[in-house]
Amino acid sequence: MSDISNRLATVRHKIRVAAEKSGRPPEDVSLVVVSKTMGVDHIREAVEGGAVILGESRIQEAREKVPIIGRDKLQWHLVGHLQQNKVKYIFELFDLIHSVDSVDLAREIDRRGALRGESMGILLQVNIAHDPAKFGVDPEELPELLREISQFKNVSIKGLMAISPFSVDPEDSRPHYQALRELRDRVTAKDFDLKELSMGMSNDFEVAVEEGSTMVRVGSAIFGERKYV
Ligand SMILES: *Cc1c(COP(=O)(O)O)cnc(C)c1O
Repeated sequence: MSDISNRLATVRHKIRVAAEKSGRPPEDVSLVVVSKTMGVDHIREAVEGGAVILGESRIQEAREKVPIIGRDKLQWHLVGHLQQNKVKYIFELFDLIHSVDSVDLAREIDRRGALRGESMGILLQVNIAHDPAKFGVDPEELPELLREISQFKNVSIKGLMAISPFSVDPEDSRPHYQALRELRDRVTAKDFDLKELSMGMSNDFEVAVEEGSTMVRVGSAIFGERKYV
């Protein structure tokens, strides 16, 4: 087995253990293998190792890689920020957008979807730690955003996403992930069916699973450290 397959198996095992520890069925947690900055050879190794959902953070990079790897039996998720002028590309690349944080962006997705006769699944990104430097809607604004976006016929809201502030201690993420789950439960009680909680990355995905994550986004724990040029 390659290093990538080995590390992928280890991450899967840890997800299973964390789910069982908190009394959740392990099948309720999807693993989004975040392949940003990785070349197609590495991505193919991950797919051979069993990856079925790949995550990318930039449209330009996805436009280079998705056509080569393909979408057959695979899902591609956009986990990074989406600019409105790039929305025109998402339907041919992605199955789910994790990072919608404004009505305008959702409206543009809806408009492009209507032109194609297609609907796009989205998650609403919440700035759960109120970090002014981060993308995401403030938790207080979420109900209003949900009300407006749920009117759009070609956008399907599947759940919420959050990025925890980086910390070496995964326990520091726990309160943020608890807050996202509680927020989800509160808005769900008011008629929105938001099943998915996209939370947890390489450094803290086990804590996220214990707190109810249904999608962990893991890159470097599988591929090794990213080299940015
Ligand atoms: C890069 C990235 C990840 C994966 O990060 P790792 O720490 O390498 O697991 C997850 N989510 C988002 C939004 C990212 O940009």
